[in-house]
Amino acid sequence: MTASGLSPGPAVAALEQIYRDLHGRPELSRQEHRTAALAAGQLAAAGFEVMTDIGGTGVAGVLANGAGPTVLVRADMDALPVLEQTGLPYASSLRATDRDGHEVPVMHACGHDMHVTCLVGAAWELAAARDAWSGTLVTVFQPAEELGTGAQAMIDDGLLDRAGRPDVVLGQHVAPFPAGLLGVRPGPAFAASDSLRVTLYGRGAHGSRPDAGIDPVVMAAATVMRLQGVVSREIAGDDTAVVTVGALRAGTKENIIPDDAELLLSVRTVDPAVRGRVLDAIGRIVRAEAAASGATRDPLVETIQTFPAVVNDEAAAERISAAFSRRFGPDRVFDPGPVTGSEDVGILATAAGAPCVYWLLGGADPRHFAGASTRAEIVAATRDVPSNHSPLYAPVLQPTLAAGVAALTTAVLTWLGPS
Ligand SMILES: [Zn+2]
Ligand SMILES: [Zn+2]
Repeated sequence: MTASGLSPGPAVAALEQIYRDLHGRPELSRQEHRTAALAAGQLAAAGFEVMTDIGGTGVAGVLANGAGPTVLVRADMDALPVLEQTGLPYASSLRATDRDGHEVPVMHACGHDMHVTCLVGAAWELAAARDAWSGTLVTVFQPAEELGTGAQAMIDDGLLDRAGRPDVVLGQHVAPFPAGLLGVRPGPAFAASDSLRVTLYGRGAHGSRPDAGIDPVVMAAATVMRLQGVVSREIAGDDTAVVTVGALRAGTKENIIPDDAELLLSVRTVDPAVRGRVLDAIGRIVRAEAAASGATRDPLVETIQTFPAVVNDEAAAERISAAFSRRFGPDRVFDPGPVTGSEDVGILATAAGAPCVYWLLGGADPRHFAGASTRAEIVAATRDVPSNHSPLYAPVLQPTLAAGVAALTTAVLTWLGPS
């Protein structure tokens, strides 16, 4: 008997070993060679037709099993430049060279190792249980989710022509909710994300002669403060928007007024109209603050990364939510509301013209959530738990892994199983 109760795939212990191995050997975005090889090897052994090097290191496995719909299930593979501090026996101590040539620590701080392991487990279980379903299963192991480029790269490299056009796109992301809990949000589920670089141009001078220069440090400081008004003063209270200035860089020495300053912004929105309003307001404020400082050159606003919102198909999400409730019990399934995190999985669904359902898989130690049962209580308790991208973040191995495998197989069989 395996974790999900279907026919035997790899033993639970073997799957746990795959997870520990991946966790200890994380790979940065677009460098997921070892992870991709592991996924490809597992798929081949489970009887899938395997395609590799799609859009970089992407892997697809196809299991054609008679008439019926095509279901695409996606797991992302990449890790982050974070120094792991979990203290786990299988923690990563690896370092790697990033795209800019810097040596950085590498950690699976977003749980993509769990996504890969769950999909390997589900692939084995569904292959072994192929008498119980009919249709085509496409498993996709995607690179570079953290850059927001991996899904598009796989589409551009012909994923849908090579692996088939799905009728639905499914996937899951671990989150700091109690392990085993499943969060399904119909409609807008993950925010759109825009990362901007703003360069403010001043005029350098001696620090003793501010009258001879145009100070980009003051310009940057005023801009940062003024940007705080975008969400609080221009966006309705029931709309979702976040504007964070995550970096402010200028100058080298106390007595030199520098030539320019740089701001890095992260913008999160759910509604495309709100996104447009926020981006317009940022541009307006940045230009106006430069003008107010007497800048002789307009600031440069560049988009350095962008993710569209993930919008779960309402009917498909309700179908999965009902299937999860039947399988795991209604108390294990909840609606987490829209989250301000971002994901590029929606690009696969949009390109295929197929509905998307992307849910959250709880991965936190349930002891942190004693007494919390309502959505509000659970969400409040997550504030005390390390979140994705933290050096302390790691899902508890079980029951997260078992629940993740079972959720994937249950969701796939909602489309391919006997009706
Ligand atoms: Zn992430
Ligand atoms: Zn992630």
